[in-house]
Amino acid sequence: MSERPQVILKSGRERSVLRFHPWIFSGGIERVVGKVAEGDTVDVISAAKEFLGVGHFYDQSLSVRLFAFAPVADESEFWTQRLADAIKLRSDLKLIGNPETTMFRLINGEGDGFPGLVVDLYGQTAVMQCHTPGIYRQRLFLAEQLQQLLSLSGVYDKSAAALRRTYPDFCKTLNLENDWLVGSAGESFGIENGFRFQIDWVNGQKTGFFLDQRENRRLLMQYSAGQKVLNCFSYTGGFSVFAFAGGAESVTSVDSSQPALDLASAHVAEHFPQAQHQAVCIDCRDFLQKTSEKYSCIVLDPPPFARSHKALKPALRAYQELNQLALNKLSPGGFLFTFSCSQPISGADFWEAVSRAAVNSRRKVRVISRLHAGPDHPQSIFHPEGEYLKGLLLAVG
Ligand code: SAH
Repeated sequence: MSERPQVILKSGRERSVLRFHPWIFSGGIERVVGKVAEGDTVDVISAAKEFLGVGHFYDQSLSVRLFAFAPVADESEFWTQRLADAIKLRSDLKLIGNPETTMFRLINGEGDGFPGLVVDLYGQTAVMQCHTPGIYRQRLFLAEQLQQLLSLSGVYDKSAAALRRTYPDFCKTLNLENDWLVGSAGESFGIENGFRFQIDWVNGQKTGFFLDQRENRRLLMQYSAGQKVLNCFSYTGGFSVFAFAGGAESVTSVDSSQPALDLASAHVAEHFPQAQHQAVCIDCRDFLQKTSEKYSCIVLDPPPFARSHKALKPALRAYQELNQLALNKLSPGGFLFTFSCSQPISGADFWEAVSRAAVNSRRKVRVISRLHAGPDHPQSIFHPEGEYLKGLLLAVG
């Protein structure tokens, strides 16, 4: 047994751990043996004194995030192997060394056995977001390893906002700033399925680009020929570029961020200089309420409406209203690509919210596909909470 502090569970509370669920809540803990600081690595032990796993501790409701269900002797070796596993998967997915797609998610939290960690790769630059104190304390080691394993030009730490939001007390004692952990920036663009996008990982949203939508952008391409497309919540125009790639007649990109729209226009102009593209800086609800236009294809990819279960009800209502507005603006025979990236909202909840919108619209609405994040966003089968992006492709009569 290791020298680490031990978290002893209450009797019966080992059950979820034996099913490899990675979260332990404070209510399941009998006591902590040894001195434990925020973000420390702990061994988790059942009431019957059986070893269960190893995780990061933090004294709050979600107290332990397990990252191993077998003993871990040498943590450095362990994490290096995990990084190698994550790289191997992306290599199997033909994302590494692929000149057509140079940006993808390299580490997707629990789905890659790294609770609380996201790493996105843009060419030779990695952008890291640590969502927990435990993983935040490992960031430099992980960045150095990643730089070595992938010969990166640099690894940028963009944890500040996310960490402050979930662990304000932990952050009070830190001088938290986004910065380069190792090296410096490489090329400031990434390529997705053959199309180049400028990436501003410092000022842009999330790590710079919404990599989770890659497969859905490609799907939109197949439905875009001759279409009049409305791309709501367009950010830097990912869906807009792929709509033109699929032969869209026109695209209107709508977002409340002017810098994002400037990039969207630049991206369209770079790839399709003759395209009929319009960028409108406005709240999407206002746009949908006010426009007198009809569109034959609409993309709705809003920011998360709910970050916690408390916000579930108003969020579902907001999804319903937004989808209703969009359905009203679709011409007969049109397609709606509609998404939710709210982690607490399940696929079934989202379906229900959209179906309510469909009932109110009195349109004939059929589900063509259920949509998800791409394969570089794997989920642990034991951790359904890891699914955050869900979407529906609807054919609307
Ligand atoms: N579909 C995009 C990602 C969308 S992220 C892609 O493929 O890259 C969500 C976007 O919604 C952000 O660009 C944000 O600026 C924008 N946004 C947030 N609230 C908004 C609102 N009320 N109206 C319009 N845009 C909004």
